[in-house]
Formats: sequence, structure tokens, C-alpha cells
Amino acid sequence: MSPINFVVFDLDDTLTPEKTYVRSGFAAVADYLAPVVATSARDIADALMSFQAETPGRAFDRVLELLRVDHVTSKELVTLYREHTPQIDFYGDVMPTLSALREIGVRIGIVTDGYAVAQRSKLNALGASELVDEIIITDEYGPDFWKPDPRSFEMLARNAGSDVAHMAYVGDNPAKDFAVASTLPLTTVRVMRDGVHSHRAYLNDLREHIRISALTDIPHVLSLRPHSEGRKA
Ligand SMILES: [Mg+2]
Repeated sequence: MSPINFVVFDLDDTLTPEKTYVRSGFAAVADYLAPVVATSARDIADALMSFQAETPGRAFDRVLELLRVDHVTSKELVTLYREHTPQIDFYGDVMPTLSALREIGVRIGIVTDGYAVAQRSKLNALGASELVDEIIITDEYGPDFWKPDPRSFEMLARNAGSDVAHMAYVGDNPAKDFAVASTLPLTTVRVMRDGVHSHRAYLNDLREHIRISALTDIPHVLSLRPHSEGRKA
């Protein structure tokens, strides 16, 4: 393994729980619907959560049927959901890990898929741009750039003055986060989370190089040592 000087993270279910984001989005949609139906926002949000668990992707259609609302479309609700200001936070192991990486002097980045407007709102809500050096929302370059397309990783390495051979990518999702190692010489790390996609199959059966139970394991498993270049004064 080449020495790592750039640690890049996935966002959803790696740095922040996706379920919290979903709940936050459903609460925003429920607040919008509650005044037009004789149902509390709380009950609407609860119904959306159960529908999402039962029939993912059909929650808005089902809640509109349930509430007999015909002057609002599920498309409008999707827009409202994606554009809402999310109430989300980092997992507990994120800030200690970012501090440790800063202290060691490695660069830090984020590569995230997902609808650009929603991902941008999440990053803003978390104050991520203050905490990491480089961020790429793949969707801002087009759907072809979603993972495991290698171009975002190459761009990110270039922007950080690093090289993909010295980059580690930390993600949670077997269906998309680790297959990029088949086209680029980067090191992949899987953090085990109770996430939305944790139970999916590995894309092309390509597994992570390293598995960890918490992000705080990163400096150890990547053998990161403090070095003078880039280290804080
Ligand atoms: Mg993820």
C-alpha cells in the first residue's frame, strides 16, 4: 500500500446517518401537507416513515392517497423534500477523526453521489466545507459521474495536489463505494454502519481493502504518521 496523504469520505451513512436525513425531509413534507388536511404533521411524518419502509420510493404517492389530497403531486413533494433545509448531524466518530487527520497533516475530502441540490444542502447544514479540503458532488458534473465512475476521484486528487495512489476512500455501501478500485490504484475502506444500503451486494463482487467498525480506526489501519509537510504550526 502506497503511503496515504489524502483521506476521502463518502457522505451518506458514512459521515451522517441517511435515516436522519429522510426523517428530516419527511417532516418538512408533513409540515407542508398538515394545514391542508385534518391530520397532524407528526402523524403524516410517521405515515411517510412506515410507507418508506414498506414500499421504498412510493411513500409520497401513498400518503397522498391516504390523505385523499388530489391537488398536490408526489413530484412537488419530491422537490420539497430535496430542497428542504435538513436537520442532520455527523456520526459521533466523525469530528474526532477529522481532528486526528488534521493533526497528522493529511488532506481530507468528500465524494458524494445523490441529487446535487439535496447533497449541497446536507453539506451546508453540516458545515462540511469548513472541515475538509476538497468536495465533489458527482451529480453536479452529470449522472455519468456517479460512483463508481473514476473521474471524480481523479479530479479530487488533482485538486488536492495528491495522486490517486496516495488516496484512501472511506465508504459504507457495497453496491457502489469499492468498485472504483478496479480502475484506480486507490485504497478502499469500508466502515460498518447500520445504514440504508449496508445489506446490499458488492458491485462486481469487488470488496473493500480494509474494513473498520469506526472512523476513529482510520489513522491506525492506514498507518498514518505525522509528517512535517502540511502539518499545522
Ligand atoms: Mg454512503
